[in-house]
Amino acid sequence: MPNYKNFETNAVRTQTERTQHREHSVPIYATSSFVFNDAEQGRALFASEIDGNIYTRFSNPNNDEFIEKLCLLEGTEDGMAMSSGMAAMFCSMAAFLKSGDHILASRSVFGSTHQILTQLMPRWGITHTYVDLQNPASWEGQITKNTKMIFLETPSNPGLDIIDLEWLGKLAKKHKIILNVDNCFATPYLQNPAKWGAHIVTHSATKFIDGQGRVIGGAVLGTKELIKEVRFFARHTGPAMSPFNGWLLSKSLETLAVRMEKHCENALKIAQFLESHKEIVWVKYPFLQSHPAYELAKKQMLHGGGLLTFELKGGFERGKKFLDNVKMLSLTANLGDTRTIVTHPASTTHSKLTGDERQAVNITDGLVRLSAGLEHVDDIIADLDQAIKKSGKKAKKDK
Ligand SMILES: *Cc1c(COP(=O)(O)O)cnc(C)c1O
Repeated sequence: MPNYKNFETNAVRTQTERTQHREHSVPIYATSSFVFNDAEQGRALFASEIDGNIYTRFSNPNNDEFIEKLCLLEGTEDGMAMSSGMAAMFCSMAAFLKSGDHILASRSVFGSTHQILTQLMPRWGITHTYVDLQNPASWEGQITKNTKMIFLETPSNPGLDIIDLEWLGKLAKKHKIILNVDNCFATPYLQNPAKWGAHIVTHSATKFIDGQGRVIGGAVLGTKELIKEVRFFARHTGPAMSPFNGWLLSKSLETLAVRMEKHCENALKIAQFLESHKEIVWVKYPFLQSHPAYELAKKQMLHGGGLLTFELKGGFERGKKFLDNVKMLSLTANLGDTRTIVTHPASTTHSKLTGDERQAVNITDGLVRLSAGLEHVDDIIADLDQAIKKSGKKAKKDK
């Protein structure tokens, strides 16, 4: 497969070989298994003496195209497509860890990742320590001889915290620990953790990679050596991606760059609008100067991303009223869609966390998460503006 100089070209031109039909667009390989030319080929394939497809739980041309492309875009050697982002998160941990091992994780992680770390891993004797995002210096002191993995998100969901990947890459190298970065929020277009020393890069492809709210998917990417372990684990436990999803997600990557440009442009304009609004307590967006890690975000990300959070004056009740008054924006738990989405993490995505746990990751009761879509930004802002006004009026009447 050629490796072109530029992201966009690799995203468009990385393609599975044509069949005898000379199709321009790759077909969907909707097949559970692949035939052997003879008994010897079957034996050699199973013995891994030759490369080739055997069974779609192991590999499939559509999924391989998706992964090959994603590897070129992330700058990783190898990878494996997964049925969901959570399958990717779980396999990227379970493939390497055993009873007695320890994970160092940043406190601000996706809700289900938090459940894996706090509820499931302990069943198998795998412990974790949450490290403080505001105090990177404390991380090194928490590393024990059993620490096998550092896991984090940057920007984090929904806190939008930014963690220094260059520093973490060095820390992981010094202590010979696997550095695993969930790059879902940034996408490979905005940030490449492998460049800074991450050994494993995980994705929920459901979000910006698909970008159109159609399918669930995920990926684990990394060095050849580590992905071999992930492939072994996944081959025998079965979190394979469907070929249809692999086909669709590979097509989605063709437009990732243009979509991300627009998502980020819209998000920044929305953030600036909200920041200047008198009814808003605060706005958090990595490329706003008011973000505590603005300089760091500028260093490791191309743009600020498609997500922002804000808090309306009036806390939980006001936030709820605001959500009930939006007309165009979608109320749904997803993000990274063509449609702008507003979410209330405290009552949905992060409702399984206790109040204290939410407080520890700065998810206030009135926090609203916004995923900027691809509508015209003026229409998004107009809807936000009218919903903010209406929620304010009602709040006054209630008194
Ligand atoms: C959505 C999300 C996941 C989980 O992905 P699914 O595809 O929904 O399984 C993991 N990490 C982050 C940061 C996410 O936003």
